[in-house]
Amino acid sequence: VTRFLSTGGGLGSPTSNATPFSAASQADWAAKRLVWVPSEKHGFESASIREERGDEVEVELTDSQRKLTLSREEVQRMNPPRFSKVEDMADLTCLNEASVLHNLRERYYSGLIYTYSGLFCVVVNPYKNLPIYTESIVEMYRGKKRHEMPPHIYAISEAAYRSMLQDREDQSILCTGESGAGKTENTKKVIQYLAHVASSHKGGTSGKNKEPVQMDGSRSLTRGSTLVNKGELERQLLQANPILEAFGNAKTVKNDNSSRFGKFIRINFDVAGYIVGANIETYLLEKSRAIRQAKDERTFHIFYQMLCGASEETRADLLLGSADEYRFLTRGSVPVPGQSDSENFTQTMDSMGIMGFTPEESVSMLKVISAVLQFGNISFMKEKNHDQASMPDNTAAQKLCHLLGINVLEFTRAILTPRIKVGREYVQKAQTKEQADFAIEALAKATYERLFRWLVHRINRALDRRQRQGASFIGILDIAGFEIFQLNSFEQLCINYTNEKLQQLFNHTMFILEQEEYQREGIEWNFIDFGLDLQPCIDLIERPAHPPGVLALLDEECWFPRATDRTFVEKLSAEQSKHPKFFKSKQPRGEADFSIIHYAGKVDYKADDWLVKNMDPLNDNVASLLHQSSDHFVSELWKEDIQTLPRVYFFDSYATLQTNGSDMDRIVGLDQVSSGESSGPVTFGAGLKTKKGMFRTVGQLYKESLTKLMATLRNTNPNFLRCIIPNHEKRAGKLDPHLVLDQLRCNGVLEGIRICRQGFPNRIPFQEFRQRYEILTPNAIPRTFMDGKQASELMIRALELDPNLFRVGQSKVFFRAGVLAHLEEERDLK
Ligand code: ATP
Ligand code: MG
Repeated sequence: VTRFLSTGGGLGSPTSNATPFSAASQADWAAKRLVWVPSEKHGFESASIREERGDEVEVELTDSQRKLTLSREEVQRMNPPRFSKVEDMADLTCLNEASVLHNLRERYYSGLIYTYSGLFCVVVNPYKNLPIYTESIVEMYRGKKRHEMPPHIYAISEAAYRSMLQDREDQSILCTGESGAGKTENTKKVIQYLAHVASSHKGGTSGKNKEPVQMDGSRSLTRGSTLVNKGELERQLLQANPILEAFGNAKTVKNDNSSRFGKFIRINFDVAGYIVGANIETYLLEKSRAIRQAKDERTFHIFYQMLCGASEETRADLLLGSADEYRFLTRGSVPVPGQSDSENFTQTMDSMGIMGFTPEESVSMLKVISAVLQFGNISFMKEKNHDQASMPDNTAAQKLCHLLGINVLEFTRAILTPRIKVGREYVQKAQTKEQADFAIEALAKATYERLFRWLVHRINRALDRRQRQGASFIGILDIAGFEIFQLNSFEQLCINYTNEKLQQLFNHTMFILEQEEYQREGIEWNFIDFGLDLQPCIDLIERPAHPPGVLALLDEECWFPRATDRTFVEKLSAEQSKHPKFFKSKQPRGEADFSIIHYAGKVDYKADDWLVKNMDPLNDNVASLLHQSSDHFVSELWKEDIQTLPRVYFFDSYATLQTNGSDMDRIVGLDQVSSGESSGPVTFGAGLKTKKGMFRTVGQLYKESLTKLMATLRNTNPNFLRCIIPNHEKRAGKLDPHLVLDQLRCNGVLEGIRICRQGFPNRIPFQEFRQRYEILTPNAIPRTFMDGKQASELMIRALELDPNLFRVGQSKVFFRAGVLAHLEEERDLK
């Protein structure tokens, strides 16, 4: 087991925790002057320098003995063997891409999936179950300092927990990475760890006999390694993920269990360090998946679980058919390798039971799921002589209305001829087939989204023990990393905007921590806060005015009569043409409409449907029917106050919005928009009196929830976990070097290293410096006792190092990148 944790080297000091290496390999490295050169196949491969001529270097490839001449920049120095498989890449003395990749790869192939890189912890998805998550391993990490144990998500969890107790500072653990990289798996491990070490109940007692917490924040040893029966709260907390995954995860091409929403789980602790409650915040559920799926993909797991696992009786109650009878299951039933939907159904239901859901609540949820499917089976026809839609067969509508507790005639009328306010009058307005189809899809998506939100709300109710005050918390963020597809839409803009902010937080944190370390050590400081570098791009997206950013302009267009996705792009281009991070597409109707230079690279955006996505319109006639449903659960779902998202429950007319070239009548049913008035009451279609400020666009709401999240995170001590996907085939033991390098670039690991290089990344305590390198300066230090700092200073003087290459602090010597490699070489020559 420990093979998967540690390389077996010594522990404790920054440079000694690598694999033991042979003297031969060390000599080899020094004699051959080994370097890394670019390689198509391996990313980089090993070579030795034969000759250096000005800007050119002649090298010989180690494997093939082929000789190559390369420019100096293409050649990256190899670290001395003593740095092999280092646990913290910030300790590498040759800090370059090749060495980082090499180190991660070497570790990965040895089953060592976690590696630190300064403030980051990097984890490469093993795609197989390693024996490193057992309760005995949890026990091994408990109470240990980060450097005392090999890198692990448990070490980060422990450090966060310890720091929370000692410093009374709230903590956060931020998991990012592309789809399939392992964010959710690691999030679950954090929760597993915390539920284990901070269980509020002990061996079945009710948690009253709390043990005192030691001065160092650890629990007294009497708890020892005996397994503690988890209390109810911990058991429920552990069920939150399976439930959320059933309703919010789906099989995609990239990941059989892909989270289609972001989440922030906040676990609250009391002063003694026991869990007292938890709360979950979710972001951006991909609700469109409920009505349509791409090839080889599925909708949310719960749909198939219900269809395969429900009992005959439940099937009858829920009016269930088989998967291929539903139009919204566009791919029919798609199996997931190694998973049984019906077994998973039982598990989901069990989890809901443990969470305290009543059987009625569970059935009500399933009914709504069945209704979402039923929405898709309603079909409309175009009437012969006019544009009006009709519903020749109302079987599906009857089933739907039965499930949702509404009257089928009222529903049909609300869909086909809704009452719409025009000026001061209400009129019945016949809908076209396109409009009716659009309304049905929007309703199905909204129904599922509201169900999901109800679910999160319900879980929070179970986990939130208000009677016990939390003292501090650990928050765990599981959210998608930068997304750069060929063409990107509104959803990618939101996620990239989020990552821009998270990266800014990281850069800023790193700046602050470095600054503190340098100050502590009394070293002159001239770092730059790289967090500020990201502000221009963030402004381009979120700035409210002068000039308005992307989100504000999009909102503006949503209020503007006859606006289209095109007019939005034109306005954006006009306003932001000079912005350094903004590029307008050359061709007027080219592939992309505009591009943004994000931190992770240039991203091409296509603005199709952005206005509609931002407004997310809904047929309010049906919405109010649902609100008045005879089914208590359904009416609760559509009750306004459980919603944080007030929407325009209105649809049709007033302004004609043309999207995608089709001239569907849509949206902006707001009377006073055209006057340009921005305040005062505005009457919505259904006669809901509200202020304009009440109508919030998707972009606005997202910006608000992100602002809230960032404010929370800024008040925590953040821990960053970068999850890396090793290949796109879900295969164990295969690491695609270019894929990994791309991710290291996007997630800031390489940039972090670049920033590190501007300072003095290698730090060695005086004592260790003297021990290892005294051999280079035999006569510098007198034989009598001498304090570490003085000795180190004398040694450095004797080494005749350029003053720019080092700094002597209070307890350590600081070196520029590469200096130690140089000292190692000299040491080998001795
Ligand atoms: P998405 O953004 O799509 O939600 P994700 O980053 O959350 O992706 P996960 O669902 O956590 O990815 O991981 C994908 C799959 O990879 C898991 O279902 C599991 O099979 C495997 N996996 C990830 N991490 C580990 C791990 N530490 N040990 C074993 N398997 C893992
Ligand atoms: Mg996930």
